[in-house]
Amino acid sequence: MAEWAEPGAHEASDGVFRVPLSMPNDGLHAVNVYALETGDGLALIDGGWRTPTGIDELTSALAGVGHDIASIHDVYVTHIHRDHYTLAIELRRRFGTRVHLGRDEAPGLHQLLEIASNVPVTSLHQLRRSGEDELAAVVRSMAVSEEFDADGWEKPDSWLDPGEYVVGSRVLDAVATPGHTKGHLVYHDLGAGILFAGDHLLPTISPSIGFELGDWELPLASYLSSLEAMLERPDARLLPAHGAPAPSAHARATELLEHHDVRLGETMRVLDELGETTAWRVARRLTWTRRHRSYDELDSFNRMVATCETIAHLDVLVDRGQARSDGNPDGARFSLT
Ligand SMILES: [Zn+2]
Repeated sequence: MAEWAEPGAHEASDGVFRVPLSMPNDGLHAVNVYALETGDGLALIDGGWRTPTGIDELTSALAGVGHDIASIHDVYVTHIHRDHYTLAIELRRRFGTRVHLGRDEAPGLHQLLEIASNVPVTSLHQLRRSGEDELAAVVRSMAVSEEFDADGWEKPDSWLDPGEYVVGSRVLDAVATPGHTKGHLVYHDLGAGILFAGDHLLPTISPSIGFELGDWELPLASYLSSLEAMLERPDARLLPAHGAPAPSAHARATELLEHHDVRLGETMRVLDELGETTAWRVARRLTWTRRHRSYDELDSFNRMVATCETIAHLDVLVDRGQARSDGNPDGARFSLT
């Protein structure tokens, strides 16, 4: 187990505890929820994943620092992914906890409630656009065979707009950071100098881009703007949803901007080598993860993420006038301009 994922409630700042909750069969190991003492109980940043052990893990971690899970009165969720949202819904069912989610996550949630399945239809659409039909079929059948957790997916109590929210003695500035999802929010406590970053800034990996339901324009371009927006705010200690806290949100945002600059450059180099080609063929020529794995070494899910990320980079190159595309929804061909 990664050291940061050790169970318990770890003090992350004055009156703030980091509680890693396990994520079975997931390379990310755990999701951090943050418990904030408010004077009349606790508020959470992110709710965690509604797994069979989620409630028990949260209960015993909080008990270890003298808190009762039933005292959680509000959960401020960073984004709609199940490892952040679905346990909040379970807390509401049991304890009447209020659940808050960014307003721009509403279309994705409505679509999810409509299809009531785990099939990532938007990503499959991107796979087809990338010329990867075979993988789209594999991912679809995997997702269909996985049970949909209807009890974890309900509407929140409120849809949050960006702005300031008073939570106990602190003020949380909810900042719109679209990219990982459309309605992703980070919560910046300027007084304490801490940033609850959700999946916008992760300390050791670059978050997937636009992995959710509902098409949108240029998710990677939105993500890069959201990284730049972080640099325009005062720096803060980074409290991420996956991984250990880090001293500087600015440092990580800068690294992630550099990472995508390098990726855009590599994508152009591959286009130069291959001539007119599809996103899937470009993805196969790039290396993946921090260990520089080849595309063929990845499992199906991660091939999907890799392919979607490649087409996101290609779309940004087209938007910047450095590449062009024939726009074919069944295997778009890209080339340098
Ligand atoms: Zn996420």
